[in-house]
Amino acid sequence: MYTVRTIACKLAPTEEQRTELNATLVAFADACNCTADVARAIHSTNKVLVQHACYQDIRQQCGLSANLAIRAIARVCAALKVPAKMHSVFAPTSADYDARIFSLREWDWTFSMTLLHHRAHLATKLGDYQKRQLQGRLPRSATLVKRRDGTFFVHVVLTDTVSEPEEPHGMIGMDLGIKNLATTDDGEHFSGDAVEAVRKRYGRMRRTCQQAGTKSAKRKLQKIRMRESRMRAHENHRMSNRLIAKAKDTRSAIACEDLTGIGDRITARKAQRSRLKGWAFYQLRTFIIYKAKREGILVLPVDQRNTSRTFSSCGHCEKRNRKSRDEFVCRHCGYALPADWNAAKNIQARGEVMHPVVEVVDAGTQNLVETTNKPRQFIGSGS
Ligand SMILES: [Zn+2]
Repeated sequence: MYTVRTIACKLAPTEEQRTELNATLVAFADACNCTADVARAIHSTNKVLVQHACYQDIRQQCGLSANLAIRAIARVCAALKVPAKMHSVFAPTSADYDARIFSLREWDWTFSMTLLHHRAHLATKLGDYQKRQLQGRLPRSATLVKRRDGTFFVHVVLTDTVSEPEEPHGMIGMDLGIKNLATTDDGEHFSGDAVEAVRKRYGRMRRTCQQAGTKSAKRKLQKIRMRESRMRAHENHRMSNRLIAKAKDTRSAIACEDLTGIGDRITARKAQRSRLKGWAFYQLRTFIIYKAKREGILVLPVDQRNTSRTFSSCGHCEKRNRKSRDEFVCRHCGYALPADWNAAKNIQARGEVMHPVVEVVDAGTQNLVETTNKPRQFIGSGS
């Protein structure tokens, strides 16, 4: 099994290189569009057939190097295999690279890349994270990308082989919510307050810009959008890293809600609905899944129906159990605890049903005991 990661590396090209990078992207897009025309004409998305039909032409017309031409053909054939992309037009925003036309030089952190007219050494602006990830690696594929704001990036693809997930010795249940973005079954939570404050501020700025409707307002709007999405990704990375570290320390699996179709299923007031959609739960889950895979941690998506209405201890399920958004009081036995904590416990229990957790109690005799029915703790008092 293996995982594929993309490391986005910002380039710091000279003015001359910038022109050359632009020319390369234009030539690559031209080659893609020519190839697509040929592929559609011969009704084939077979790389060998398409290459045979158009390789010479696109090299002469677009002036691309042999390997870039091959990459363009490969991209088109892959894209046209998807029915929805059958008639797509390729824009000069990215180009694909393989090991023969791209390499990383670690001692000065530069990329050597074949451009339209020559091979160039491109300086980069890398952060510590990127350097740590790329250290000692020989990446074999990458994509040159021009962002909307005109900056150039190289998205380096790193392939890691990972072992099969380890047999878990515990189960962490995680609930995604509004007040707390994420809560685990032991009561740890990630507050959404700071994020919410920023989101509101950006929302106000966005409305002002949309009303103005001028060109500079649109630019500003784009900037706000980018900043908001960066912040969101940062928070999601922070939460997922914390959760993965916890799972690794306790050798636990992670149970989380099955989020497919979260947008239409969640019942919330209008104001909260925009919060839920605005907050990228899907991104958080994606982060958790790929990071878990890398560390050999099992992730179990569980059915979240009634997890917010059922008391995690006595199992009594009633809508009125949940007194308010944040408060849970069992109508049957009167215990009270925070609603999201209760939900996280339910999710944990469902995860344990899906994948019974075994624990080694005596390593010498390898005596295995199930820990599915361990006692749970509450806060608050009963009546
Ligand atoms: Zn009860």
